[in-house]
This record gives sequence, C-alpha cells and structure tokens, in this order.
Amino acid sequence: MIRVERDKVTFYQFLGLRSFPGLSHFVSGREGGVSVGGQAALNLGFMDEDRDDRVLTNRMLLAEAVGCSVDNFTFGEQKHTTHVEVVTRAQRGRGGREKATRLPSTDALITRETGVCLMVLAADCVPVLMYDSRMRVIAAVHAGWRGTVGRIAAQTVERMRDEFGCDTRDVIVGIGPSIGPCCFEVGEEVVEAAREGLGNLEGLVETGKQPGKYQLNLWEANRRQLRQVGVEDARIEVAGICTVCHHDHFYSYRGDRGNTGRFGAGIMLNI
Ligand SMILES: [Zn+2]
Repeated sequence: MIRVERDKVTFYQFLGLRSFPGLSHFVSGREGGVSVGGQAALNLGFMDEDRDDRVLTNRMLLAEAVGCSVDNFTFGEQKHTTHVEVVTRAQRGRGGREKATRLPSTDALITRETGVCLMVLAADCVPVLMYDSRMRVIAAVHAGWRGTVGRIAAQTVERMRDEFGCDTRDVIVGIGPSIGPCCFEVGEEVVEAAREGLGNLEGLVETGKQPGKYQLNLWEANRRQLRQVGVEDARIEVAGICTVCHHDHFYSYRGDRGNTGRFGAGIMLNI
C-alpha cells in the first residue's frame, strides 16, 4: 500500500487498485480527525466511547480528502456474519450519517452502481476490497476470524460472478491492514472452527508461544480461499500491515486493549 496525506487526513491505497480511472478507494488511518482519547483521532465508528458528532465530522473530513461526500458512504451492520448484500442505488448513503440506517446484519457489500462508496470498518478484523474492471463491479468485505473461516471473501466473489457475470479471474483484490500472524493468538476452539470452515490448515496455523495457543494467519486464509474460487494470485495484494504492531497508525482492538476506534476501507465507482 502507499500512504497518502491530504488535508491532514492520512489514508492508504493498494497499488493494484489505484491505477484505474473511474475507481476510488482508500483505507483510512488514525491521523487527521477530531476524536480524542483512545478514539483519537479519525475514528469512523459510532460507539459509546465517542461522540456521534465527532464521528460524523471525521467521516466528512475523510470524504473530503478522498473526493466524495459522506452521503456516498454506505455501511452494513457488521455482525461477523457471512451475509453478502448487493447494494442498489436507492441504498446509497445508508449508515453514512447515523448508525440506525445501516444495512442490517451485513458484512459484505457489492454494487455496480456509481456513487455508492461501499464501506467496512475494522480494528483488527480484515477489510477486503474487490474490483472487476471488466464488468465494473466492486465489493467491500469485513472478515474477522469468523467471517474468514466462514469464507465470506470467497462467497463475495462467487456472488459477483452469479449476480453480475463476473469472471473470477478478472477480480482484483486488496487485503487491508489487520491483525497479523505475528499477533493473532487463538485457542483450540478457533483452530477447530477454522479446520471445519477451511479444511486444510497447513501454512495457516502455527504453534503459539504459550501451551494450547496457536497463531492464525488471516491474510493467508483469505488469500487461499480467493484462489480456490479462481482469483489469480497476482491480482491479490496483501497489505501485510499488522494493526496490533502498528496501532499508532491504525485502530487495533488488541493493540489498544479494547479502548480504540475504527478505521475504514472504502471503494466507489466514480460518477
Ligand atoms: Zn503484529
């Protein structure tokens, strides 16, 4: 990813996605907003620990920096489901200004409408952005460990194929900053769920530093499931940035011991 600073707001872009005219995308960082304390400064998530007016201001600052409006931002109510929603023009802006209008129980969003900025929020979970330049279809995915072992990223690509006729080989993917294999220590129950959902865990799980603990690699788990549905390895870009190790630049639930905010990943077909 490359780092961009604009109007004091810092955001990041995937090399593989930034070259397309007519496509906007970004992953926001922590810098440039008005939130304070553990949520400082560019917290994008409405939450008890932050004031709604500050979150809305942050979203407006980010929108301006990336060249759109908060009314383009479209959010799902992220519930660690594998529900994929195809977003219509009429749903543009849902959840952008307030929590109540978010698309219910939705962790992945797909659209081919222009002016709909698909948004996912994260603070260790894996944000994934997708683009099919041939069919002009985009997607944004929130994949925590539950979503990852539920194969939500693969399911999203399959839905792009089934709904819009995308060839999975054309899909370009950016796997964003999130908890890395260095820091994602899990117990036996998570490993068991991963085995059930993903099958062969070779290369995805390593023995942890403590007895009965394991290190799970969510980046590779997402990359592998995307390859299994036909996405080409060369079209998958992994940011490789661990949010726990870099919690000074990205919100991290584990890195900030729970007192944190949310950064966002967004993608939009320009009008
Ligand atoms: Zn780490």
